[in-house]
Amino acid sequence: SDLSRLILDRIRDVPDYPQPGVLFKDITPLLADPEALSAVIDELAGLHQVDKIVGIEARGFILAAPAAYRAGAGFVPVRKKGKLPAETLEASYDLEYGSAIIEVHRDAFAPGERVLIVDDVLATGGTARAAVELVRRAGADVVAIAVLMELAFLNGRERLDGVEVHSLVIV
Ligand code: IMP
Repeated sequence: SDLSRLILDRIRDVPDYPQPGVLFKDITPLLADPEALSAVIDELAGLHQVDKIVGIEARGFILAAPAAYRAGAGFVPVRKKGKLPAETLEASYDLEYGSAIIEVHRDAFAPGERVLIVDDVLATGGTARAAVELVRRAGADVVAIAVLMELAFLNGRERLDGVEVHSLVIV
């Protein structure tokens, strides 16, 4: 489609970042392009009727906050451990080496609120899975996950059993 072309043409592959052997998908050229940026934000905002859009630190914030504004929803940050000031819930997930912890404010959602989770890239799915767990434990209802780009060869979707996943492009 036009949208996938617009996105694919503006994502840059950076070899060996952040470590040797990784081909990093850099979305900054897309963010810098007014036409692509507004098309992506409009698409994310129009996916579902929701109360809150969650952004996962840090690139998820860049997409989720304007999408929430556009959709008339609220924005909620999911952050790396230690960054949120009030009482939090936390979830850990495995990385290639070691593990990481993300948090959300315990009172971020009213009971049963409908939530869309947004991030830039779905890779192994560990981050998105932990975010789903956090939102559910905070009492809200995960309607779907949306990402700009899904790296299909890492099978992240399979780890998100049952949650609807919208990928604006799949590579
Ligand atoms: P996962 O947990 O393996 O699915 O990795 C997804 C998380 O890592 C997301 O928060 C992404 O922002 C980040 N990530 C993984 N690979 C890339 C990439 O190639 N480009 C940008 N972000 C990435």
